[in-house]
Amino acid sequence: MYRDEVKNIMNTFEILPEQKFGQNFLCDEKIIDSIIECSGIHEGSTVLEIGPGIGALTSRIQEITSDYTCVEIDKRLASFLRENVIKENVKIIDSDFLDLQYDEYKRDKRYDYIISNIPYYVMTPIMKKLIIDNFDCKRMTFMVEEAAVNRIIASPGNKNYGPLAVLCSNFGIVNKEFNVPSDAFIPRPHTLSSVITIDNSVNIVNKFVNDSQLYLQFVDACFSQRRKKLSNSLSSFLSSGKLGKPVTTGDLADLLSSMNIPSDVRSEALTPEDFHLIFLNLLV
Ligand code: SAM
Repeated sequence: MYRDEVKNIMNTFEILPEQKFGQNFLCDEKIIDSIIECSGIHEGSTVLEIGPGIGALTSRIQEITSDYTCVEIDKRLASFLRENVIKENVKIIDSDFLDLQYDEYKRDKRYDYIISNIPYYVMTPIMKKLIIDNFDCKRMTFMVEEAAVNRIIASPGNKNYGPLAVLCSNFGIVNKEFNVPSDAFIPRPHTLSSVITIDNSVNIVNKFVNDSQLYLQFVDACFSQRRKKLSNSLSSFLSSGKLGKPVTTGDLADLLSSMNIPSDVRSEALTPEDFHLIFLNLLV
């Protein structure tokens, strides 16, 4: 979609971008080409898009595959898309993605590819939910604020390291693809954006897909008190019975010792693989 085309759509259909929904519409054809190219989407793929807006990516993706679902929070935009953009087979759900259960947006097979020019104000919860619900997806492609990339790729010990980096790394390999200048959008955002992809590392897929919601709660609990020892941060989660049985901090200490991890470790020192292994062992 070229700049004039986007302006024309916005004028004709009286679409005023809603700041509260993080609406910045892509208007640079070359950037759109590059995003579609690195998304991996091909004929016959099953695709999920969060936040189609006025359809910059949507109108392209539907030319490649019809096995395609979009979720848009803004009802005005969802009706605009239904009436003017999307083809018959494309499914559009007008809802806040964060309110949807997986059953409400799934198709009859897994999503191969997920794509979103993510509204910045809800980047973290949207990415966490996408990963937790779709551990079997092949690749996720996101446009995020450039400054947020550090939180996605942070390693243990880094001040930005937290649940989002752990989940992304558990899911797969994060690549920063390219930066996007603010003039690629109407209206212009205040910051630079970056496109990232996360490729699934298949070895982890089946391991906790059944308990993925619980895994998210576990990782969040581990980072609930960053300055404290893991055993302190986790104590109420362990005693809550969420793991199916009460787990004492003594049990946790034994497990950490069997993994050669000091019992006074803090979450920020554990690798994403450590979190996954600790969780699996606590579940047994
Ligand atoms: N994909 C379009 C593009 O690239 O031009 C629009 C991107 S715009 C940055 C973000 C879009 O996400 C908006 O259309 C906004 O209404 C939608 N959105 C914001 N929060 C959402 C949520 N919680 N669930 C679903 N869509 C959301």
